[in-house]
Amino acid sequence: MRRPDPLSHYFPLRFANQAQVTRFAKQCVRCGQVVELPNMSGAVRVLPDRAMVAAKARCPKCSHEFPVTCLITQDKQVMRLHLPNTLLMWYLLATTSAPAPQAPAPAAATVDLQRLQRSEVELAADSVGQFDGQPIPAWIRHAGEQFDFEGVLGKGQQPAQDERVLDGQLLYRRHVLTA
Ligand SMILES: [Zn+2]
Repeated sequence: MRRPDPLSHYFPLRFANQAQVTRFAKQCVRCGQVVELPNMSGAVRVLPDRAMVAAKARCPKCSHEFPVTCLITQDKQVMRLHLPNTLLMWYLLATTSAPAPQAPAPAAATVDLQRLQRSEVELAADSVGQFDGQPIPAWIRHAGEQFDFEGVLGKGQQPAQDERVLDGQLLYRRHVLTA
């Protein structure tokens, strides 16, 4: 039996409807800290329309370890699976092969793609305020992915890989699925 893999090796998840799930997180059951992929290990079985996840998460703040047993659908819904974590983990490790770690996308090629105009994206109807006389959409959607409003890009600041910039200044960060 192989050992649980770093869960990040399975991401991004790609589904038949072209949806991608790049980030996944779960709140620590003890202290509420958001625990992300780098602090999870386990196994994932990706089917065309859903993925089964069995993992152990370790909270970087309080070191508490807890099981994550869930289903992620191609509509990016996270559902709890009522199965023993150890059983699903055993099953997934026995029936899947170890994933190859994903190579990060070359940074240079993504820089211009991160700067978007309103006409290129789907805008949330909800706004979280005004900036330069324009409403600030709560989120934007681009290429099938949702980005949530994060703040205003500082002078000379470059967006991170999982961020997008709207109107040259409004900073959005890739939506994190939280179970
Ligand atoms: Zn914790």
